[in-house]
Amino acid sequence: MEEKKVVLKLEGVSKSFAKVENDEVTHALSAVNATMESGEFISLVGPSGCGKSTILRLVAGLIHPTTGTVTVDGREVEGPSPERGMVFQKPTLFPWLTVEKNIGFSLQMQGKLKGNEDRVEQMIKVIGLEDFRDDYPAQLSGGMAQRVALVRSLINEPDILLLDEPLGALDAFTRMNMQDEILKIWRKRKQLAIMVTHDVDEAIYMGTRVLVMDANPGRIVADIRIEEPFPRDRSSAAFVAYRNDILNKLHFGGHKGK
Ligand code: ADP
Ligand code: MG
Repeated sequence: MEEKKVVLKLEGVSKSFAKVENDEVTHALSAVNATMESGEFISLVGPSGCGKSTILRLVAGLIHPTTGTVTVDGREVEGPSPERGMVFQKPTLFPWLTVEKNIGFSLQMQGKLKGNEDRVEQMIKVIGLEDFRDDYPAQLSGGMAQRVALVRSLINEPDILLLDEPLGALDAFTRMNMQDEILKIWRKRKQLAIMVTHDVDEAIYMGTRVLVMDANPGRIVADIRIEEPFPRDRSSAAFVAYRNDILNKLHFGGHKGK
């Protein structure tokens, strides 16, 4: 299958929300500029409330910027599309559908399931859940459910994969396994992936680029290219140097003071 190259641009993007408690506004994002393209794995890190999810929701087309534009190949994002797939921290599976039916759901909704059963089959294999295809979400572990949620959006072969803390609810071991699985899947098609994470190590381990954000107003304060080959070595000198740099930018630098 021929892969499609896309360029995503956020230009002068700001997003304000009315506060619930009073008549002030929250500047969730202010003057955000960023260009990202196929082949990149972008990690978004930053304190809670700095607008990470807002960026993903803008790119997904779930919300619209207050000012500025979000474009894919020059065309403004107007609404959600299977070409921009979103995976959330809590796997949003349909509890009444089996693993297999959950994975095939969006193909079925688009009337494309017939003739594409092999795609469902391939996705079940990718995540190693052949023996669980007839199970319901409630019977799965957190890691298994998240795998299903992941391939359920991958089955649409999205040009842009949006991951909002997809591994945040998993224990450390499952999480590290899933990091490798997501990377393996991403490296096959090298679509543009944008992943929000709280975990600086995860951001460096998976990202070709790490965007560091800060809050009030939400903005990008650093854009760091991770120039290390995959698979990454978490204990290498380069890795540790990236970690220190990013922690400093997040103001967790420690002894140097500020
Ligand atoms: P993050 O994902 O980095 O934790 P968010 O993007 O979810 O941050 O939110 C950024 C800011 O915008 C926060 O202050 C949040 O409370 C506010 N916000 C986000 N969505 C809404 C909304 N729908 N209505 C009001 N405020 C919102
Ligand atoms: Mg968030």
